[in-house]
Amino acid sequence: MLPQVPSLTRLKGATPALMCLLAVFSSLPIFCWHWTLFAGWMADPAFAAVARLEVVAALNAFLLAVIAADTLIVLWLWPRRRQPTPMPRMAVGVVLLQVPGYVAMGIAYGPITSPTSTVMISALVVGLALLGRGPTLAGFVFALVTITLADWLVLGGLMPYAPALLPATFVDGQPVAWWRDWQDYMFFTAVTFGLFLMLLLFNRMDGQRRQLEELSRTDSLTGLSNRRYFMERLAVEQQRRDRYRQPFSLVLCDADHFKKVNDTWGHHAGDEVLRAIGSLLGTGLRIPGDVAARLGGEEFALLLTDCRATEARRVCERLRRMLAQQEFGPPGRRFRVTLSMGVVECGAGSIDAALKAADVNLYQAKHDGRDRIVVSAQEAAS
Ligand code: GH3
Ligand code: MG
Ligand code: MG
Repeated sequence: MLPQVPSLTRLKGATPALMCLLAVFSSLPIFCWHWTLFAGWMADPAFAAVARLEVVAALNAFLLAVIAADTLIVLWLWPRRRQPTPMPRMAVGVVLLQVPGYVAMGIAYGPITSPTSTVMISALVVGLALLGRGPTLAGFVFALVTITLADWLVLGGLMPYAPALLPATFVDGQPVAWWRDWQDYMFFTAVTFGLFLMLLLFNRMDGQRRQLEELSRTDSLTGLSNRRYFMERLAVEQQRRDRYRQPFSLVLCDADHFKKVNDTWGHHAGDEVLRAIGSLLGTGLRIPGDVAARLGGEEFALLLTDCRATEARRVCERLRRMLAQQEFGPPGRRFRVTLSMGVVECGAGSIDAALKAADVNLYQAKHDGRDRIVVSAQEAAS
């Protein structure tokens, strides 16, 4: 029954209190507009010829009560706007306060002749985006029941249709100035708030999309790129190399005897070391060209763009030495961790061949005693 509208409630910084405040702020201007304009018009003797003053006065008195209650809600919610506490009852309360305001206007001016129906439809969307299904459904049911009851009263001859209006509101089928003005004000207020909310919604959704993109290519432990993103970048770099003939270097790194680190110092200490290795590999690379990634476990990889074997060896040697000097663990029980690295300069060949060559070099480094770098080159056939 209710349309699926992207919800703002699950977004970062969107507290339930803030959502309730926004819902109040999106209705309050319309009620205030009505009260001020009609209070002014009622002071004009000519207005009595086109509207039933007692109905308009009763409507304005009701709206004043809604405005007063809304103001109290705003005063209560404002200091709590950053609290993450769920406020399901307040959300229903906010809806069941605004909807009667709209319904009263809709009945007084006629649900069809007035723009209230249009505004109520946009209020439905605003309600769904800000407060979610439950409270909006409550408001929807309330509006449906009360408007249906009012229709029955009209059909039974117990109440005139649009009781606030007199036949003189329309001349030759056209609305007189005050009625047209009110329709315009209401329409533009609703459109302005609708646009504002849509901008807010799309802006937040865009931020959320970028956050998700970032998450989908990041390794959560180290903050480096993950395997998937590394492979994507490797493919792009291979194409770039084939076009511009600029070789890149691929480095596979593996922490030495890491199982022993976990067994001796605990998994938590192991994670700390992995984070430190991640931070070491992540800094000191040429951004944005180079990529440092955690492929999984205690295995890392570097993509060094536009980089030949000698330069790659120099970069890796610096990283190896920096890690070998770093100490981990509590005072008095310090330990060190070393890295073995397999490096390949990729001047030609497929990604699979490059990964295989780097892996062979890494295996060689392990075999030769660990804490070392083995480099080779895949030369382009000239
Ligand atoms: P080698 O020098 O031959 O690489 O020996 P190794 O012990 O590092 O290699 P092995 O593959 O036998 O063990 C890897 C260990 O890495 C096993 C596992 O306990 C640890 N490990 C893998 N992923 C994680 C992780 O996310 N956190 C921690 N703390 N340890 C991990
Ligand atoms: Mg390993
Ligand atoms: Mg290892």
